[in-house]
Amino acid sequence: MNSIPINEFHTDPVQFPGLDVYAVAGNPIAHSKSPLIHQRFAAQSKQAMHYGRLQPAVGEFVSVAKSFFAAGGKGMNVTVPFKLDAQGMAEVLTSRAQLAGAVNTLWIKEGKIYGDNTDGSGLVRDLLAQGIEIRGTRILLLGAGGAARGVIGPLLDQLPVQLTVVNRSNSRAEELVSMFAGLAKIKGVQLEARTLLELEDHAMTTTAFDLVINATAAGLNDESPLTAGAVNNIFAPSSFAYDMVYGKTTAFMQQALLRGARVSDGLGMLVEQAADAFLIWRGADLSGQIDSRAVLSELRS
Ligand code: NDP
Repeated sequence: MNSIPINEFHTDPVQFPGLDVYAVAGNPIAHSKSPLIHQRFAAQSKQAMHYGRLQPAVGEFVSVAKSFFAAGGKGMNVTVPFKLDAQGMAEVLTSRAQLAGAVNTLWIKEGKIYGDNTDGSGLVRDLLAQGIEIRGTRILLLGAGGAARGVIGPLLDQLPVQLTVVNRSNSRAEELVSMFAGLAKIKGVQLEARTLLELEDHAMTTTAFDLVINATAAGLNDESPLTAGAVNNIFAPSSFAYDMVYGKTTAFMQQALLRGARVSDGLGMLVEQAADAFLIWRGADLSGQIDSRAVLSELRS
């Protein structure tokens, strides 16, 4: 995967006089939907901006991002595999970016690079927009990578009664739980790590979960993190199953559908995290002018 300089994807800020230039950086990046989403937000709120793509080689994110900002770039979204690099290069981090341990949104303010993480707020907004209750519910979070870590804080803020984290590598789930134990205590949420074997054991998992969030990358390879035994114990027809992977009915979603549960992919999360980034860059006063659900409908059609 080669480095692509900042003009290759038609993203060099010097090429766009009179426009504020933004970009999404990832590797690979060619199929990212972020440019389309941000162009729609810009059109809805009449912002003079250009939003392009950047594909740094692995190991070259920081130099590409610095070149982009030095050339006048105003802000950047960051996706796989650069969210940790972005956190490392930000000079000022929001508290939720510190908690998440990763940054998906960068911008320049008074000569300093700021970093935030809008993945968790994007997930929460998409769930609420779909009418999914979070307060008072029992949530199962599958995965312990960057995406899982990014959403735990915003989920705890919504005051579920219980948040259970399960990951293929158990130790990573335990690490996450100890990292968020203090916040969970303050919020009065029972936060725990469990193993897949415990989910499969009906004596240990006696009640289905209200909300099951798949924050693993398994769906990208048409796999599910759940075995058939676990599926029987965790889903009921009243459950809601959310897969962060988007663009298809994943194996995880199919398992939930077979148990009669309702399902969603993660496209709404993608749009909502973009909306949060857009408002950070262009001003929260534009929130009434952008319509993220209309953009989501357009992407789905
Ligand atoms: P990471 O690489 O940081 O973590 C991957 C996670 O998936 C780990 O918990 C890993 O487990 C687990 N995993 C991978 N393959 C399997 C498998 N076959 N079975 C079980 N578990 C598996 O990735 P991220 O956390 O950054 O991203 C996770 C997913 O979320 C990606 O698919 C990404 O596209 C999606 N995402 C979607 C967003 C949206 O806006 N919709 C935003 C952010 C992410 P282990 O620790 O054992 O390796």
